[in-house]
Amino acid sequence: MGPRSSSPVSPRHAVVCGSSMAGLLTAGLLARHFERVTLVERDGLVDSSQPRKGVPQGPHTHVLLQRGLDIATSIFPGLQEELRSAGAQVMDMSADCAWHVAGAWRKRIPSGVTLYSQTRPLLEWRVRAMVRALPNVRILDRREVAGLLHDETGTRVTGLRLRAPGGTEEMPLAADLVVDASGRGSRMPDWLEDLGLSRVEETRMQIDVGYATRLYRTPTGFDAGWKMLMLSPELPRLRRFGAILPIEGNRWTVTLCGWLKDYPPTDDAGFLAYARALAQPHLYEALKNAEPLGPISSHRLPHSQWRHYERLPRMPEGLIVVGDAFCSFNPIYGQGMTSAALQVELLGECLRKGLGGLSRRYFARAGRVLKMPWAMSTTEDLRLPELGDSRPFGSAFLHWYGERFQRLTATDAEAVQTFMEVMHMLKPPEAILSPRLLWKVLTGRSEGTEPPPGPEPLSARLSSRAA
Ligand SMILES: Cc1cc2nc3c(=O)[nH]c(=O)nc-3n(C[C@H](O)[C@H](O)[C@H](O)COP(=O)(O)OP(=O)(O)OC[C@H]3O[C@@H](n4cnc5c(N)ncnc54)[C@H](O)[C@@H]3O)c2cc1C
Repeated sequence: MGPRSSSPVSPRHAVVCGSSMAGLLTAGLLARHFERVTLVERDGLVDSSQPRKGVPQGPHTHVLLQRGLDIATSIFPGLQEELRSAGAQVMDMSADCAWHVAGAWRKRIPSGVTLYSQTRPLLEWRVRAMVRALPNVRILDRREVAGLLHDETGTRVTGLRLRAPGGTEEMPLAADLVVDASGRGSRMPDWLEDLGLSRVEETRMQIDVGYATRLYRTPTGFDAGWKMLMLSPELPRLRRFGAILPIEGNRWTVTLCGWLKDYPPTDDAGFLAYARALAQPHLYEALKNAEPLGPISSHRLPHSQWRHYERLPRMPEGLIVVGDAFCSFNPIYGQGMTSAALQVELLGECLRKGLGGLSRRYFARAGRVLKMPWAMSTTEDLRLPELGDSRPFGSAFLHWYGERFQRLTATDAEAVQTFMEVMHMLKPPEAILSPRLLWKVLTGRSEGTEPPPGPEPLSARLSSRAA
């Protein structure tokens, strides 16, 4: 058994461990329900847009899906204006994006699905500024959570044990509610075992994904007919992805990514060579004469992981887990921050009935919230035969259908619109199986006949201009 809380529980005090996106959204929500909220963060936090040690994925392209942005905006009204004035680029996910997928360029339509594009540190910094402005939230940085405080029976969590990073002296912090938002490396499974609970089950999918990201100055007068470029893989044949997104400061964030240890190199020549081997030449063409700004950052993620807290026979009361600490996805599908936002939204719904029984209510529903994004990303990853022989029932049909559906998006506006809304979690994945879309996929009939030609490679545009 770990130590017990010696100080009396302070009334209406919530403590959040970890001040990355999941922790910040949680603190913003809890500020409406608790007298006081304390956000505990191991890193030192500065008042600027900078990558930091505790968020090593920070230098990489981060897409905040519209559902996540909507939830974040409901917690922090004014967030979108805040991001725009900090330089975020606002785009229509379809009309502004040249996207090559399943062997064709997706049809581009005004979809109304909006992407705010900025660096991850900028997003976190502006949300953190909004948290700091809340009068009842205190951010305690340079403090590490070392474990839980709990009651005599171990059935209720009553706070956290804190220490300075690297230090040994511990300080108790009492709370009515503790939220773990400490990311993939969360030690909660160990702490729950210390409380006498069984080990939380974990589902892992070995993906061995590697990222390499570099910032570039947007070339003066650049006009290739797109603001954002996405070159999707064609799993299992082509296992590489590349994207260019415009961000604050008249820059591009350029990310290359590969599955199963097909890691993109981090030297200049290797990075360009990898870009050249993508499904289309457009990304390479755009990069080869662009000015890089700084080094190439890399990140490797061996597996997606879902810690099934929802399956534990009991969770202690007064304890919630959100974000990557609960479920951490293959980042390529851009779901992490939005899934965290969905969990925070669920927490808000569960809090409407008060604190009594909160953990039970939350974990009873959290599994269903995670199921949808987990199924969307793992279904795609399971196209790789190396991931083993066993597949969930229906996978073969979903792979067959999914590929044909993606091809349909080359010519059919309804398919494009539905895809964008599903991807951005505004509609459930079943929407792509509506009777009309099913009919179009099965019969091969769509609104258009010929797929759009797609953007010309830059070299072709330049030579035709010169001629
Ligand atoms: C390469 C890459 C690209 C990604 N791209 C996208 C994307 O495009 N879109 C998207 O939505 N998501 C993306 N993600 C996922 C996204 O980064 C996370 O889902 C998101 O940051 C939410 O995570 P989190 O807040 O739960 O945890 P984290 O971001 O991991 O943050 C955990 C926080 O807890 C702190 N902490 C940890 N332990 C302690 C402790 N003991 N005491 C105190 N503090 C502690 C850390 O310092 C950190 O601040 C990507 C991830 C990777 C790896």
